[in-house]
Amino acid sequence: MNMMDRFGLTPCPYCSAGMLPWTAGKRVHHCERCQRPLAIYRGLFKRDRFRIIPLYAAVHATAALLFVLALATALVGTGNMRHIMLAVAFPLALFGASDVADGYLSIRTGVSRLFGRVRRGGVARAIGAGTILFGLAGCLIALIGITAFTGAQ
Ligand SMILES: [Zn+2]
Repeated sequence: MNMMDRFGLTPCPYCSAGMLPWTAGKRVHHCERCQRPLAIYRGLFKRDRFRIIPLYAAVHATAALLFVLALATALVGTGNMRHIMLAVAFPLALFGASDVADGYLSIRTGVSRLFGRVRRGGVARAIGAGTILFGLAGCLIALIGITAFTGAQ
């Protein structure tokens, strides 16, 4: 791919390839290169600045926040083991589901990002397969946790 034809375009926050202009009024856009869904939002402190975040990163941040809040509530409140298990299970399911989606896109596009490094081609597809397995394991553990919670009433 000739990089110069993308010169001056906003880089994708996932794969850093130049992106074509967004459709006006749309909050979610797909990067042409890595196919990751990207969300646009206004800066929290600088309202005139727009920021772009990969949707899976937003899901991860939400899951982490949910985990901390739920765990704090469970510990301060009842301290019940079942509540603590639920506090862990739901964010884990969210993490797992977003990992499966990210892994699928890694396999399909051959672009993957792990620990801040973008990889392409066969390596990216191998990482994608690993991410799917990791995500499925997370979902399975979460499912066992939720089933244990609802089953033993
Ligand atoms: Zn991209």
